[in-house]
Amino acid sequence: MWDYLRLNHSETLRSPLFPVILTVASYFVLCIPYLVCDILGKKWPAIYRYKLQPDKLPTTAMLIHCSGVTLYNHILLVFPAAVAQWLWRPPVPLPERAPTLLELAGGVTGNLLLFDFQYFIWHFLHHKIRWLYVTFHAIHHNYSAPFALATQCLGGWELVTVGFWTTINPVLLRCHLLTTWMFMVVHVYVSVEDHCGYDFPWSTSRLIPFGVYGGPSKHDVHHQKPNTNFAPHFSHWDKLFGTHADFSYAKTQ
Ligand SMILES: [Zn+2]
Ligand SMILES: [Zn+2]
Repeated sequence: MWDYLRLNHSETLRSPLFPVILTVASYFVLCIPYLVCDILGKKWPAIYRYKLQPDKLPTTAMLIHCSGVTLYNHILLVFPAAVAQWLWRPPVPLPERAPTLLELAGGVTGNLLLFDFQYFIWHFLHHKIRWLYVTFHAIHHNYSAPFALATQCLGGWELVTVGFWTTINPVLLRCHLLTTWMFMVVHVYVSVEDHCGYDFPWSTSRLIPFGVYGGPSKHDVHHQKPNTNFAPHFSHWDKLFGTHADFSYAKTQ
């Protein structure tokens, strides 16, 4: 697969714009299935029974608000950053050899773990220091029952920080380009899943055993009880700092 991509799509893949287009496109494509679930709502009981907070479906106004914030951030931040990369960054060379499956899986996991640690600290501080919360993070807490499009309902500073880490971390971990792109898509997937509002049998937290991974049910609790579950992906940092809470905690409060 790598040889095919390298030999036939080299121009596209070497462009500094490629990772930006890949992540933006993955975001919208991955939001669509959840959006369909939300629009059909109770008319699709087979799916609706997995809704974490039943009777709290997003309204049209909420969907428009989040789409508006996303569009605003993309026009004001993502697009200029993409143009700057395109103008000033030379095309990246494509390595001849593909990563092994082990390198790819290890790289993706390593990047998720590193991001999880960085965002845990950022997130913790932006809840504990009132000025940081009000100025930068409060917009993400507009909705106590998250839905897929609320994933990128973020302030500019948060989007820039998250974008910086997802760009720089694979470089620090010396990842292959294919591993980097795979991490970016997986990261978008798990971030959207965190906010989808459904705990499906195939949700990441159910596929990864021993409660190692937080997933949608834990992040849903964060939106209901904002002083819990600060880590975006795994659960070890919250368990270590005593901020971990299960979904039943939110229900009983
Ligand atoms: Zn969130
Ligand atoms: Zn938060």
